[in-house]
Amino acid sequence: MPKITEEVFYIPGQDAFMPDSHAYVLGKSTSEDLSLVDAGLLGKGSYKIQSIQKAGIELSSIKRIIMTHTHLDHIGCLAEILKQLPWAELWMHHSEADLLEQGDERGVYGMDMFRVVCQLQFGLKAGAFKFQVNRKLQGGETLELGNTVWEVIHIPGHSMGSIGLYHRPMKILIPGDVVYSDHAIGRFDLYGADASELKKSLISLAELEVDILLPGHNQIVEGLPKNYILKTAKQWEPYLK
Ligand SMILES: [Zn+2]
Ligand SMILES: [Zn+2]
Repeated sequence: MPKITEEVFYIPGQDAFMPDSHAYVLGKSTSEDLSLVDAGLLGKGSYKIQSIQKAGIELSSIKRIIMTHTHLDHIGCLAEILKQLPWAELWMHHSEADLLEQGDERGVYGMDMFRVVCQLQFGLKAGAFKFQVNRKLQGGETLELGNTVWEVIHIPGHSMGSIGLYHRPMKILIPGDVVYSDHAIGRFDLYGADASELKKSLISLAELEVDILLPGHNQIVEGLPKNYILKTAKQWEPYLK
């Protein structure tokens, strides 16, 4: 698992017939107070756990899992990972936390047809994604994670509770599925999505100085060109109404 900087390890998603989200481990390795950002697709839990161990990180130092959002390709293997890390807390934006606590899986599957396909494909029963959430984020918090500081930014549009994590000193942005490399953005047709909210979220991210972009899928970008997010927002503006 490549180390991006002193404060971030990268676990690339292992796409199968569906995408598997990337995961990141935040915090200085000496802190023993690490955070895993996102889990991944169903069945990818042991791959993610092994990647962490191969990097020489003690599982016991992972204290929490922070979800950028709760689509299936990010939360699918959360239960598998929590089995290995039963002490880990679960943190996410309150709007998606409230759904999961009620066992409302519309935000996980995004659309009914996809739910039916996945339940057949993976042999999932209704209620497979009911979780208790330890900390419900609002956006605007400053989190101290393993001797590093991250700002939480609520960036709805791709999903209602999407959050970005921003490390201001190193200009690192983890935007979930809101913006990717190659001027791509997250889809905005699923349950809880909203094109005009996505536009606003992109505009607010464009105000940040970002050098390292660590999205939920596809390439990560180091040395992000100046105004990259603003350009991306402008490019997509006609579709985001
Ligand atoms: Zn997503
Ligand atoms: Zn995704």
